[in-house]
Amino acid sequence: MSRRAGPLPSVDEVMRGEIGRVAVARFGHDAALGAVRGALDGLRVRLRTTGDDDPPPPDRATAAVLAAEAALARLEADDAPRLRRVHNLTGTVLHTNLGRAVLAEAAVEAAAAAMRHPAALEFDLDGGGRGERDDAVRGLLCELTGAEDACLVNNNAAAVLLVLNTLAQGRETVVSRGELIEIGGAFRMPEIMARAGTRLREVGTTNRTHLRDYEGAVGPDTGLLMKVHTSNYLVQGFTAEVSTQALAAIGRERGVPVVDDLGSGTLVDLSRYGLRRERTVQDAVADGADLVTFSGDKLLGGPQAGFIVGRRDLVRACAKNPIKRAVRLDKIRLAALEATLRLYRDPDRLPATLPTLRFLTRPVEELRGLAERLGPVIAGAVGAGWSVASADCASQIGSGALPLETIPSHGLAIEPAGRGASGGAVEALAAAFRRLPVPVIGRIEKGALRFDLRCLEDVDGFAGQLARLVVPAEAAVP
Ligand SMILES: *Cc1c(COP(=O)(O)O)cnc(C)c1O
Repeated sequence: MSRRAGPLPSVDEVMRGEIGRVAVARFGHDAALGAVRGALDGLRVRLRTTGDDDPPPPDRATAAVLAAEAALARLEADDAPRLRRVHNLTGTVLHTNLGRAVLAEAAVEAAAAAMRHPAALEFDLDGGGRGERDDAVRGLLCELTGAEDACLVNNNAAAVLLVLNTLAQGRETVVSRGELIEIGGAFRMPEIMARAGTRLREVGTTNRTHLRDYEGAVGPDTGLLMKVHTSNYLVQGFTAEVSTQALAAIGRERGVPVVDDLGSGTLVDLSRYGLRRERTVQDAVADGADLVTFSGDKLLGGPQAGFIVGRRDLVRACAKNPIKRAVRLDKIRLAALEATLRLYRDPDRLPATLPTLRFLTRPVEELRGLAERLGPVIAGAVGAGWSVASADCASQIGSGALPLETIPSHGLAIEPAGRGASGGAVEALAAAFRRLPVPVIGRIEKGALRFDLRCLEDVDGFAGQLARLVVPAEAAVP
């Protein structure tokens, strides 16, 4: 049995009310009107389905306030940014799903200035004529890498695509079977090759590829010899691979260019900061690769970008390819990139100036102190149903740099205090942390929600919002 609802207020009444006027002032008349109509429809449906046991329907004035409140809440929810800032406590410093590198202050400022003002992007300030887009960073890149020339694109996937298409379209590209990588999503080397119009010529086997394999494959149809960094896996055991140096020697002898796709690519010897050494871009250039490709937002710590550095004639050919126009960089990222690269001129200060390196080199002692400070605050926020413990953990660089390498780290482990808690309780708690104003992203492992504190610098911002944590009821009661 349903009961007839009392008369609902008109759209106009709701709009003219106090909250309705706030909605109009903040979101504009049209948006507010749409939201109010929606709210009144919702109210109408709710009242129609009200049963005899439910409380009596609101009077007209109350209904107008309810509708206005619902409309305003709806408008606010719709207006909240979808691309949300988060706290990355996953332990993966360069987390692709969380946007990889956090930019240096200098890069942020440069990007903001490029957004606010016109910039001489393709304008030669000396001659007053047309300039070249990549000029701003070309010199710096050559200086830092030892390469003859450089060209910039949207990301490393684009760099690889551009190189393959420019140098090997309609011809063969020779790659070791052990290096036919898939890097998440749709980036699979064989597919990129197909799209670039080059024929994949696999050589060797999954675990072993020899010089003679490459030598045997090179013929009149060969456009390119390619070496690919096995970014997210390691071939271990009975293995053999051919160095860039050896590959470059074959390339020179047979007149075939050699490209080395480094993936992450770093410009500094990481061992000087106590990390495992990763082959640098300078190494690849010095080893004789004709072209080297790498990313801007992985270990380099800049904005998303792809680099092609190396032999001038080949870089120029890439720059002239019409595809370059489709994958070029915008002025905002060019500005951020230039500022980031400039920091590399002073490698001693990099752990202070470049967030990626700052995170990677943060002493574990500092993280222990942080865990001690934050443990009680988190314990207070999650309540008595949970135990919060300081815990050792292991961070990863992420984004395909040193895939099996971990960095000793420290954080907090939160698990149900009572024994009867269901497996879903930890997931529910993780979801509650994700619903905070600045969502906190941790990791669930061995029955606990784990926060690696390596990337947490905004400690006050993190702790200050914990009072707003709404702990799922099931877990609150042990
Ligand atoms: C990450 C990676 C890419 C793709 O680089 P993006 O900058 O993500 O486009 C290509 N090749 C290798 C070896 C990589 O590790």
